[in-house]
Amino acid sequence: MKLIFATHNNNKLKEVKSLMPHTIELLSLDEINFKTEIEETSETIEGNALLKARTIYGTTGINCFADDSGLLVEALNGAPGVYSARFAGEQKNDHDNMNKLLRELYDKTNRKAHFKTVMALIIDGKEYVFEGKIEGKIITEKLGINGFGYDPIFVPDGYNKTFAQLDSETKNKISHRARALQKMLEFLKTI
Ligand code: IMP
Repeated sequence: MKLIFATHNNNKLKEVKSLMPHTIELLSLDEINFKTEIEETSETIEGNALLKARTIYGTTGINCFADDSGLLVEALNGAPGVYSARFAGEQKNDHDNMNKLLRELYDKTNRKAHFKTVMALIIDGKEYVFEGKIEGKIITEKLGINGFGYDPIFVPDGYNKTFAQLDSETKNKISHRARALQKMLEFLKTI
């Protein structure tokens, strides 16, 4: 079966390709020559994942999936959430985003947060949604250089290092994205 992963992110694509069953031929947006950036206009993470998957399915008629993620901070009522990439503005700068979050949390004792990923899959017009989460806390300074986004200030529960201090193999085993992907892969094996 052909399956499109609605992403332009080559790192994500590589990771997912290595985990796909051999019966599935995974195609990226570049491989199908889809150049347009799909605007993420929904107010929820789930909504944006579905919006991207529906756009690709509607355009190509080929089975596909899309993912969307965010960081939800308890003391900020779930912010930045769906706005994680552009928390400090449309320049989508990781350091600006982290600095803003650290400023908003500076007097807060509750540092609990979780990352969440939603994968939206469309097979023969039917929609399926898979969710992955990792709980942890936001520390008060940036530590580590690996990864991206909020990794330097997020320590997952059960660890004493930030995502940016952990090696990518460890992060990719426990991450929100890995957990959502695992659920989707289990489902794909059954169809
Ligand atoms: P995306 O939907 O995977 O592009 O994620 C949206 C935003 O959430 C990213 O731009 C990051 O700011 C943040 N984010 C998502 N996943 C991670 C992660 O694994 N580590 C750090 N930040 C992340």
